Amino acid sequence: MTAPASTTTSASPLDDARAQLAEAVEVLGLPEGLHRMLATPRREVTVSIPLRRDDGSQDLFIGHRVQHNFSRGPAKGGIRYSPHVDLDEVRALAMWMTWKCALLDVPYGGAKGGVRIDPRNYSAAELERVTRRFTSEILPVIGPAHDIPAPDIGTDEQTMAWMMDTYSVASGYTVPGVVTGKPVALGGSLGRASSTSRGVVDVALAALPSRGLRPATTTAAVQGFGKVGRGAARFLAEAGVRVTAVSDQYGAVVNAAGLDVPALERHVDATGSVVDFAGGEVLDGGALLELDVDLLVPAAVEGVLTAENAPRVRARLVVEGANGPTTPEADAILAGNDILVVPDILANAGGVVVSYFEWVQANQAYWWTESEVEARLKERMLGAWEAVSAYAAEKELSLRTAATAMAVERVASAHTLRGLYP
Ligand code: NAD
Repeated sequence: MTAPASTTTSASPLDDARAQLAEAVEVLGLPEGLHRMLATPRREVTVSIPLRRDDGSQDLFIGHRVQHNFSRGPAKGGIRYSPHVDLDEVRALAMWMTWKCALLDVPYGGAKGGVRIDPRNYSAAELERVTRRFTSEILPVIGPAHDIPAPDIGTDEQTMAWMMDTYSVASGYTVPGVVTGKPVALGGSLGRASSTSRGVVDVALAALPSRGLRPATTTAAVQGFGKVGRGAARFLAEAGVRVTAVSDQYGAVVNAAGLDVPALERHVDATGSVVDFAGGEVLDGGALLELDVDLLVPAAVEGVLTAENAPRVRARLVVEGANGPTTPEADAILAGNDILVVPDILANAGGVVVSYFEWVQANQAYWWTESEVEARLKERMLGAWEAVSAYAAEKELSLRTAATAMAVERVASAHTLRGLYP
């Protein structure tokens, strides 16, 4: 495998998140005191996680759980394992979760967690020990009525199973509602694993007509081939869209005639990367963002569309599978070039919607069929798309500012109704 592709990441996702909040606050005319509360996390926990390695040596990691807001319900948000995790990144991601949950009207606040670790360098047994220790350190602040973690970059169903088990052992009984994104055999929801990707594609297909496009005439590039990007590429291809390029952290592949996505998935399962896929040619990872395609789906990390590369983006529609892939400067440039950006808090909300369904099912111990889950997800995603589009048109706002303002208004209203304690 080759070295990781170079990435242009923005200096601080937190600055981006705060700039987006400030714009929404201005649209809504909210008072400064409320703005300051919404810009500041409610609670932050930083822990150290010592690890006994398989060879007997000892390592140490830093982990965070940031709970941004509880006004509308328990906090909710993923756990990220990445060498790039830092507290400001987690704060930004927690804030975006608050807006996402409010926008999709699921009864949660927002949270996020992360451990600064490169999971590729550790065995499954070591990752289990890291996960159990991290869970036990944040145990006092999580729980089905407090804060419900889920998978994110570098974590998966197995991570959630270990978290659920650790929490349950400490409680003395099984508590499936403490995490979502669990294996189905442990009370996970059918349709959860593909839900973020399905939601991204539901919204992308709904947005095509506004650009004069339909699936059969649309080409797409997808950055990132993990839990979100891989499913997005598959569902786009199944809808008739020609997916011409995809990338991961190791490199990118392109085929102007359209990639054979199922064959590419088999290649990734066998090798761990899209690199060296026989059905495409090598492409520089950064160049993927500037390809001549109709639809661009950034589904990897934050801060990849910046003031530097945004002028060269040729897609007519950007649908954000990742959280925070577009900096505010890039947003302005893309808008100036008449490129429509469907924001993360709308486009990638399918995961938290089905997480909510999973939590509801776990709390009731009554499980739905996969088609029920998918139909209810689609209804929520399309409803949110229609509502945000209408609000943006009425107030002459970008989709991002409209979505953020709608979400912030709901959180502010819940906060105001509850009143300030004491
Ligand atoms: P993942 O770890 O499953 O996959 C990440 C993918 O991105 C991998 O293929 C990795 O190789 C690739 N990648 C990393 N850096 C890259 C780079 N510089 N260029 C190209 N590819 C790169 O993570 P995921 O769960 O798919 O999350 C991806 C994004 O989607 C994150 O921003 C995450 O917060 C967001 N998100 C995830 C979910 C979910 O349900 N998993 C829900 C909402 C949003």
